[in-house]
Amino acid sequence: MVHGSKGSPSNNSGRAGVGPSSGRTAVRVRFAPSPTGILHIGNIRTALFNWLFAKHVGGEFLLRIEDTDKARSEKRHEKEILEGLKWLGLEWDNKKLIRQSERGDIYKGYLERLLKDGHAYYCFCSAEELEAERQAQLSQGLPPKYGGKCRRIDPEAAVKKAKSEPAVIRFKIPTTQGHFQDIVRGKVAYNGDLLGDIIIAKGLDKPLYNFAVVVDDREMEITHVIRGEDHLSNTQKQIFIQDALGFPRPHYAHLPLILGPDRKKLSKRYLDKSLLDYKKEGYLPEAMINFLVLLGWHPVEDREIISVDDVIKEFTLDRVQKGGAVFNPEKLDWLNSFYMKGASDEKILELIEPLVPALWLKKKDFLLKVFSIEKSRIKNLSEFSSIAGFFFELPEYPANELLWKNTPKDKIKSNLKKILETLKNQKNIPGAQESITRFADKEGRGEVFWPLRVALSGRDASPSPLEIMDVIGIKEAMSLVRKAIKKL
Ligand code: GLU
Repeated sequence: MVHGSKGSPSNNSGRAGVGPSSGRTAVRVRFAPSPTGILHIGNIRTALFNWLFAKHVGGEFLLRIEDTDKARSEKRHEKEILEGLKWLGLEWDNKKLIRQSERGDIYKGYLERLLKDGHAYYCFCSAEELEAERQAQLSQGLPPKYGGKCRRIDPEAAVKKAKSEPAVIRFKIPTTQGHFQDIVRGKVAYNGDLLGDIIIAKGLDKPLYNFAVVVDDREMEITHVIRGEDHLSNTQKQIFIQDALGFPRPHYAHLPLILGPDRKKLSKRYLDKSLLDYKKEGYLPEAMINFLVLLGWHPVEDREIISVDDVIKEFTLDRVQKGGAVFNPEKLDWLNSFYMKGASDEKILELIEPLVPALWLKKKDFLLKVFSIEKSRIKNLSEFSSIAGFFFELPEYPANELLWKNTPKDKIKSNLKKILETLKNQKNIPGAQESITRFADKEGRGEVFWPLRVALSGRDASPSPLEIMDVIGIKEAMSLVRKAIKKL
């Protein structure tokens, strides 16, 4: 079985994954985001798991933009989805994007079929009527559901009435109980009796989510529906619609919720952050993928660092956990540092380009040298420009910044003069570093290294002055030390 050891489609007439006409058996998954908000960590984790699964089994990964909600769907969100997927390298297989907004005729055909076959009907109940019914049920301690008033209208009369009066289309949910086999969660039971008839369209040309998904998954020959656990309650509705249309049931895998660092529901703080914000902050795509994949999936051998190629090799759905996955931002930072250390010069230059002043890019070798000593001090690339700015332009600093504890000013000044002498006499950096270290061991490290650090960086926190010297060279170091001496 393609998805690993657990789960199989139940009562689906043995045709899971078989398309309407092609008789295909290959795995096909889809990422089906709604462009109604930002692309947050939960969305992109779903995309990644679908993509990895498709890669693992040699199947196809399709992208479907679920923009039936015209009022809330926005092009900028669609753009963000595409950019986010591209940034992580999650290329989708259908060259032409599938947008629900462009498939009106297909949905209309299936809606007419459901109406004709008596699986759906027009409903004319007003919002006030429905609310009154709801309140009455709640006051009797009953779970609220539609009572089925419009089920009883003669279908022909209803079709006519719908031409002149506002009407929605409801699907007749059978009162039966059933279950489906979820690859992650095992057997999941449902009870149609609790649901009541659901609205599947606001008109023949206004399909709603649960209905459109069923049609598209069938039309696109989707074999495995992999999505967040928050969709579990939709799955039962979708299964009823599939059954009414005589569609095969795809395999289901519902991914665990992502929990915040406090193990509670993920807060707005994280859900309001787009994947592209992480990009802007200079997180590496490799780090992001490594981080996301561990949000609910376990590699074969327990490890934190895993390359995307290895994940593809190991990615079976039976390794997805059922319990919530904890989002730990510190782990992301840790992974990002790891991948930054290992990144090639070309990669760093490519990623850093939009994050640093254009002037810095004129001296690429110098920039890379600076990066090599600063990289262990930053969590992500966006911190680089503020931390490394002094290499490109020394900030103004007050003279007393050069002073070390209670050491007299004259002493600091003479130490800097001695350093200048040493730099003059030494022709190479290792020699200069060695002599200055010997001098510091004699005079006191703070008394020598502190003023030298400030002279070379204008700051009180930086890499060691010996490392800075290595990057800027003897000549520049001498000029900066001279400046410092003048200040005192
Ligand atoms: N459009 C839905 C969403 O963004 C996902 C639908 C699905 O995966 O079935 O949550």
